[in-house]
Amino acid sequence: AKSSADPGYRIFDEDIRKALFARRRIETGLAAAVETKDLEIWFQPIVDLSASQICTYEALARWRQPDGSFIAPDQFIPVAEETGLIEQIGLLALERGLEAMRDWPEGTRLSLNTSPRQFGKGVLVPAVAAALERHGTPAARIELEITENLLINSGPEVFEDLDALAALGVGLVLDDFGMGYSSLNRLHRYRFNGLKIDRAFIQRMEEDETSAAIVSAIAGLARCIGMHCTAEGVETQAQLDLVHKAGCGRAQGYLLGRPGPHASAQPTA
Ligand code: C2E
Ligand code: CA
Ligand code: CA
Ligand code: CA
Repeated sequence: AKSSADPGYRIFDEDIRKALFARRRIETGLAAAVETKDLEIWFQPIVDLSASQICTYEALARWRQPDGSFIAPDQFIPVAEETGLIEQIGLLALERGLEAMRDWPEGTRLSLNTSPRQFGKGVLVPAVAAALERHGTPAARIELEITENLLINSGPEVFEDLDALAALGVGLVLDDFGMGYSSLNRLHRYRFNGLKIDRAFIQRMEEDETSAAIVSAIAGLARCIGMHCTAEGVETQAQLDLVHKAGCGRAQGYLLGRPGPHASAQPTA
């Protein structure tokens, strides 16, 4: 509690000290977790709505704590981005994902999140090619999810990587579509195989007609330019009906299956 003898800036200093401490703990702990098996890769299904079956699993990082709880990516991905550890996490997800795929039904694909930091360094493309080769996995069975910020202020080396991945046959998907600035401009700058509409739009569809119209428009646009379209964060049957009606070919969300340490055999709804 604050007393008259305890000026406000002390409290402020204390907050900063705590924040810095927590951050440093994440930094050192995360580096160790990547080395040990405490950084796990979980999988969440993506359902093809016309076939009513799982077409893809997205790999999502989870950090296991000594007490068995997990720290969510929101807490550590930003730190990993800053320190560069995200590059190793990306390679870990690729490796664990390709291992896990051996048990999946034929044709099921693996979708991997990427960080802008992985691109343009001459590492990503050879690593992907070598991992596919080593596991005997066709390139068409994996796709990389790319966020729009990769395409902002990026040099030709980034586009060279995208071209090289496309030439390998790896799918390229624009993630969190609609959240960045001038999303449509991104579609113009690079030819993607698909896009994922951010959860924020899906969650507003039920009560907000404008959001529903935006989702329909994005799905229609995707269809016109030959991209597949995934609705993220579908939590209710009403949302599932709406995204289907809006023309999204694929959906992902807690209604259809939560992320888990193993690929689930069936959609849970
Ligand atoms: P994202 O790529 O947009 O992934 C989808 C996030 O939404 C995941 O959060 C997933 O668990 C969550 N989600 C899925 N369905 C639902 C739903 O129905 N409702 C709600 N409320 N949430 C849902 P998660 O696993 O916490 O990951 C957060 C973000 O961290 C991801 O967002 C992705 O950007 C990043 N991330 C996770 N793993 C990796 C990784 O291995 N590499 C990189 N570069 N980024 C990663
Ligand atoms: Ca994603
Ligand atoms: Ca997303
Ligand atoms: Ca998101």
